Amino acid sequence: MFDNLSDKLDKALHILKGHGQITEINVAETLKEVRRALVDADVNYKIAKDFTARVKEKAIGENVLKSLKPGQLMVKLVKDELTELMGGDAAGINLSDSPSIILMSGLQGSGKTTFSGKLANYLKNKKTKKPLLVACDVYRPAAIDQLHVVGEQINVEVFSDRGNNDPVAIAKAGVAHAKANGNNVVIIDTAGRLAVDEAMMTEIENIHKAISPSETLFVVDSMTGQDAVNTAKAFNDVLNFDGVILTKLDGDTRGGAAISIKSVVNKPIKFIGTGEKMEAIDVFYPSRMADRILG
Ligand code: GDP
Repeated sequence: MFDNLSDKLDKALHILKGHGQITEINVAETLKEVRRALVDADVNYKIAKDFTARVKEKAIGENVLKSLKPGQLMVKLVKDELTELMGGDAAGINLSDSPSIILMSGLQGSGKTTFSGKLANYLKNKKTKKPLLVACDVYRPAAIDQLHVVGEQINVEVFSDRGNNDPVAIAKAGVAHAKANGNNVVIIDTAGRLAVDEAMMTEIENIHKAISPSETLFVVDSMTGQDAVNTAKAFNDVLNFDGVILTKLDGDTRGGAAISIKSVVNKPIKFIGTGEKMEAIDVFYPSRMADRILG
């Protein structure tokens, strides 16, 4: 995960990690290299530039060069700023409603169906939750089949209505089914297109209005970098979603989406997907991720 970025930051911070004398000039050079590493990781240039400007400001504020261990302090400042950029504290999901309705949004192939299963499994394992999965992709029969396969795998009920081509009606019927059957979590998997389009946005907006979800989550493929950030912005403008799910981190060597998505949409990354298996789900902890990136 993010190996390229880690390598580059490691090289950038080499001097500060105790391999030479620290001067104002090499602090400035280091920050330039840090900025370059972030841009190479597909972080937007302005975000990277603002990032290093903030680190520099803190370094001046803390009088780094006069400190006992200037190198270590600089590395800490970079780590703290990276944590902050990725969201600060971990953000949970709202499960206080009964049933708690969780609406999944995102492009086709982003990992919505897989993540819906992972989340259902994760919550089921918490014992107090009895999730129901609802299949609202009316365009691809294979998508409904896929959710049923996932449901069987994790032993979670799946609600679908194959003859019905109205996703709003299916979502509502799914919620009614959950209420009647004692499911205290409803996870609604929706259709996605290959790119943002008006029809998809109107459809998800209508589902959103009809069921008033406790949580609206936006699922995105981490490997798509700045595209992921742009797609997030488009969905957020319409849905004002509550959080981001970053999938396929296991294949992402760059990390640009993870680093910049929060600062663009101002919504936290709540979970990450780290593989195809149902168990490959983790709560996103910005500080742990920063530790991992900086080694
Ligand atoms: P959807 O169209 O948004 O519902 O996307 P799917 O859930 O069908 O996922 C698309 C592909 O990505 C499938 O082959 C999944 O197995 C794969 N996938 C989903 N999440 C992850 C992940 O975290 N890591 C990896 N490596 N593959 C994933």
